Amino acid sequence: MAQSGIVIIKQGREKPILQRHPWVFSGAIDKGRTNLEGVQPGDIVEVRDTRGGYLATGYHNPHSQIRVRLLSWNQTNQIGPAWWRIQLARAIAIREAMFTGSDTDSYRLVNAENDGLPGLVVDRYGDYLVLQFLTMGVDVARESIVQALADLLNPAGIYERSDVDVRSKEGLEETTGVLYGNPPPDDLTITQDGVRYPVDILNGHKTGFYFDQRETRRWLRTHPEIAGREVLNCFSYTGAFSVCAGLNGASSITSVDSSGAAHTIARQAMAQNGLDDLPAEYVEADVFEQLRAYRDEERTFDLIILDPPKFAFTARQVDKAARGYKDINWLALQLLNPGGLLLTFSCSGHVSPDLFQKIVFGASVDAERDAQIVGLFNQSADHPVMLSFPEGHYLKGLACRA
Ligand code: SAH
Repeated sequence: MAQSGIVIIKQGREKPILQRHPWVFSGAIDKGRTNLEGVQPGDIVEVRDTRGGYLATGYHNPHSQIRVRLLSWNQTNQIGPAWWRIQLARAIAIREAMFTGSDTDSYRLVNAENDGLPGLVVDRYGDYLVLQFLTMGVDVARESIVQALADLLNPAGIYERSDVDVRSKEGLEETTGVLYGNPPPDDLTITQDGVRYPVDILNGHKTGFYFDQRETRRWLRTHPEIAGREVLNCFSYTGAFSVCAGLNGASSITSVDSSGAAHTIARQAMAQNGLDDLPAEYVEADVFEQLRAYRDEERTFDLIILDPPKFAFTARQVDKAARGYKDINWLALQLLNPGGLLLTFSCSGHVSPDLFQKIVFGASVDAERDAQIVGLFNQSADHPVMLSFPEGHYLKGLACRA
């Protein structure tokens, strides 16, 4: 059966498609020869070369600079409920294999483009699923997706957290709410690698929790140099790193975040992991200012964690982001005791690992602190990166000894 719309790619622009990059930008399309009669935003189209040869199948959105997101490179595949189900089942099977025997009930189940499901994020929180439909193509397929997830996983509830501004680029409104079953309870606690984390799915960041730092948390819980150390956790959110450092024997933990609501959950997280007696301070402040205040007070720490929010949303913002990263790293290095550790991250996809390392190096030069890298971090394995889609790699981190 022929697909309804036909998108023709300009000569010489087919290569990324043949190499299975999932995005077709507006500029690669031969508009004069493309036929989109009757095609609605989000509909399935066939992508062909100038001679009419089949290249791939995807969903189309005239409101987005990424005109087509590709789903299949096999012309016989019909994109419908059965296809969504097969793709979801594959992503689920990968996670089940990944987490067998690890005392983990929560993780990213579907990582959008990197799981062959562009625009779709599914996070699992115990018996609940939380979804983000980031693009028109998955928004219009929502019924098939929710039905397949309900059949495959039999969750207690499926909740939508599509309150993300990227939806505006697709011509979509922000939306949240129950899609299936019960709403998630407001006292939900998840388990990752045996550690308990309370989560606020309805109001928290992203879908409620930063699953992408699971492997760093494991490092923090097992690294031999944490016991007996004074820890400063900057951008601490709900205290996941604070808990892991506490469980590994840190002598005190100072968590700094601008969100008071996040600190409330961080306190519960410490209690739920038996860390009530650990000396802990929760500072509701701007990290840039708080680091300067500590410097002026000559306060020092043995381990400083910097896990800021995304500083660069576009390639144009990279220079400004680099100045922000350099500033906090420069300040943190000045607060470290000799031999102390800096654990520093960037989740800006536009800042490459190489550039990030150079920024931290620049900070160490200006702070006049020699530092050696003793650990390298990436987003956890439940946030895989498709080799054909390097844009999928966004989180990188360094552990440095000063
Ligand atoms: N490390 C955390 C995730 C950090 S997310 C974890 O493991 O879960 C980034 C956090 O930075 C958010 O909690 C946000 O409230 C906070 N934040 C953003 N800008 C800030 C600023 N300028 N000063 C302090 N906190 C900030």
